[in-house]
Amino acid sequence: MQTNFSETALADPAIAASEAIIRKCVHCGFCTATCPTYTLLGDELDSPRGRIYLIKDMLENERQPTEKVVKHIDRCLSCLSCMTTCPSGVHYMHLVDQARAYIEDNYRRSWWDRTLRGVLAWVLPHHGRFRLALELGQLGRPFAGLFDMAKATKPLAAMLRLVPSRLPAPASLEAPSVPQRKGRVALLQGCAEPVLRPEIREATVRLLTRLGWEVVFARGEQCCGALVHHMGREEASLEAARRNVDAWMAEVENEGLDAVLITASGCGTTIKDYGYMLRHDPAYADRAARVSELALDISQFLDRIELPEGRAAGIRVAYHSACSLQHGQKVTADPQRLLAKAGFTVLTPRNAHLCCGSAGTYNILQPEIANELGLRKAASLDETTPDVIAAGNIGCAVQISRWAGAPVVHTVQLLDWATGGPLPATLETSPPFKETTQ
Ligand code: SF4
Ligand code: SF4
Repeated sequence: MQTNFSETALADPAIAASEAIIRKCVHCGFCTATCPTYTLLGDELDSPRGRIYLIKDMLENERQPTEKVVKHIDRCLSCLSCMTTCPSGVHYMHLVDQARAYIEDNYRRSWWDRTLRGVLAWVLPHHGRFRLALELGQLGRPFAGLFDMAKATKPLAAMLRLVPSRLPAPASLEAPSVPQRKGRVALLQGCAEPVLRPEIREATVRLLTRLGWEVVFARGEQCCGALVHHMGREEASLEAARRNVDAWMAEVENEGLDAVLITASGCGTTIKDYGYMLRHDPAYADRAARVSELALDISQFLDRIELPEGRAAGIRVAYHSACSLQHGQKVTADPQRLLAKAGFTVLTPRNAHLCCGSAGTYNILQPEIANELGLRKAASLDETTPDVIAAGNIGCAVQISRWAGAPVVHTVQLLDWATGGPLPATLETSPPFKETTQ
C-alpha cells in the first residue's frame, strides 16, 4: 500500500514501524473472510483491511481520531486471525496496538467510558482488588438486567454476568521441592486465573513437579500488562513489562531458569512480545528480548519435555484453540498432540479459527458482539458431542462456560489427571471420567 507520511512523522520510531507495516498490505482482502467482526457485521470498516485504511489515514495525516474511527478500532478483538490469513505478512497486532495508543493520547472518550476503562485498568491487573470487586459483584449480580436498559450501562450488566456465584479459595504460591530436578522454570502467577480458577495453577505445579521440574514464582512479578496494553495505555504496559523483566532476569541471574511458563495464552502473547515492546529502551531491550525467548506456553513446554502416555481411554475432548495461542503465538498442534497422547479423542469444532468473543475486556466493553461470538463458539463445540471442552486461556474458558453444554477446563488439568493427578472437581460427576478413574 502506498503511503505518504511526512519526514517529521517518520522520525518517530513508532510511526515509522506502523508505516512499514501498512506498506506491506496489498489490499487483497483475504483477511476479511476470517475476521470475526466482519463475518458478523458485514461492514468493510469492521474488517482488517478497512481498519488498516482507517489507521493509515489517522496516522499519516496526524488526524484527531474521530468517533467513527474509534468505534471500528474498539470493535476489533485483537484476535489476530487476520495475521494467520494474510499472505503478505502484515503485522496487524503491532499496527492496531499503535493505533490504540494514538487514540488513547489524542481522543477524549465520554466521561462514562473513561470511568469504566479506568476502573477496569485499576482493578483487573491486581489479585486483591479483583477479588474484592468480584465479592462486591456477587451482591450486584441479581440486578444485572437493570443495566441492560441503556447502551452506556450494558458493559456493567456484562461485567456482573461474568461474576461467578462462588469464589474459590485463593491460589497458593507453594510448590513442592523436587529431589532430582531436571531443570527450573518460572510460572507466571497471572491476575484473573488464580482468582477465578486456582485449580489451573495447582494442576500445572503438580504435573511439572511430578515430572521433575522445579517451579518458582518470581518475586516482584506482576500482571503481564496485556490488559492495559490493549486499552492503549502504553506507559502502564511498558512499566508492567519492565517489572516482570526485572523479576525473571533476577531468577535467571541467580539460580538460572530454563523457561518462563504461561498458562493463560493471552498473557503469553504479550510476554513473547516484550522484546519488541521494549526495543527502544536501552536499559531493557536485551533483557526483555531474553525474557521473550524464555517465554513458552505450558503446552509448548510439555510437548518438548515429553509427557508420559495417559489413561484417558478415548474420552472425547473438544479442543478450543484460543486466538492468542493459535494466531498470536502460532501454537496449534502441541496441545492437541498432548491430549491425544494422554489418550483423549480430540475433536475440532467448526470454524475453529474464529474468536469466542472473550478477548481480554472485550466481553465487557463490547458485550453484544462478544455474546454473539460466544454463543456461536459454544454451539460449534457442542456439535462435536464432547465429554469435556479444553482451552488454554482462562478468558475463553469463562466465556465458553456460559453457553456450552459440556464442562470447560484448562488443557493442563486434563493432562495432569490423565498422567496421575486427581480428577478436576468440575468433572467428578462426569460418567466417562468417573469410570476411568475408578
Ligand atoms: S484482530 Fe481479529 S477482529 Fe481485529 S481485524 Fe484482525 S481478524 Fe478482525
Ligand atoms: S490479507 Fe494482508 S495484504 Fe491482504 S488486505 Fe488483509 S492485511 Fe492487507
